[in-house]
Amino acid sequence: MSRARAITAIERFAVYWAWNGRCFWCREPIKFADCHVDHVIPVSVPDPIENLRYHYSLSPQFEINGFENWVPACQRCNLLKRSIVLVNSPAVVLHLQAVRERAPKAKLLAEQHELDRRASLVLAKMLTGEEPDDREINVIGSLVPLPPVDVQISERWEIQQRDGKLVIQLSPLYSAEGRRQFRTTQAAIRQQINQLSSRYARIEADMAHLDSTSIPWQVLSQEKTDVEQELTRLKPLLASGGLGFTRHLDN
Ligand SMILES: [Zn+2]
Repeated sequence: MSRARAITAIERFAVYWAWNGRCFWCREPIKFADCHVDHVIPVSVPDPIENLRYHYSLSPQFEINGFENWVPACQRCNLLKRSIVLVNSPAVVLHLQAVRERAPKAKLLAEQHELDRRASLVLAKMLTGEEPDDREINVIGSLVPLPPVDVQISERWEIQQRDGKLVIQLSPLYSAEGRRQFRTTQAAIRQQINQLSSRYARIEADMAHLDSTSIPWQVLSQEKTDVEQELTRLKPLLASGGLGFTRHLDN
């Protein structure tokens, strides 16, 4: 029987926030979208919960799937930890103690927003790497009990805890200048695609009149391949659905 259960977006955010947006293992700041939730005592441990409580002097409230066992982890540490058997090491006791102290903070936030459907949707969407829009930013801001929320324009969007503040960085699309530049670039790409498409059609028409063993046919065939490659490169750069704030801007 697997003891793992899916962690809700609110719970994930609560763990992230309670640890100031840093990885529990390496203490490096992480983006919310990259935040994994690790179990200090792995869910795969076969011991019954009663034994674990006894062995680690845990509180009666301790659950494998609970804030007293959950920590935020960056991708690297999350993968590394999978291969290390931490159980029965004295470090686990210290880890669990640290987590127990932080747990009430996370738990309180999660309980307050447990039934907030709007917030879970926004957070879940963010975990997919999508950028929040203005309304969604407000929803996230309202999750944190003591606001200081900083909103900045940056290279790409991300949410981070920094010096006790929740910093929401928005992509250049949030500024008028950023949107103007975006439109200009998009128009240029569209024009290039149109020109290449008509060139492609012309090449095909010319080739139809030629013998496929002739040199001119082979020259045109090479040109056709080049045009095709350029179109393949350009087409994904064209944003579909107009100017949205929800483009995938990771990396
Ligand atoms: Zn880490």
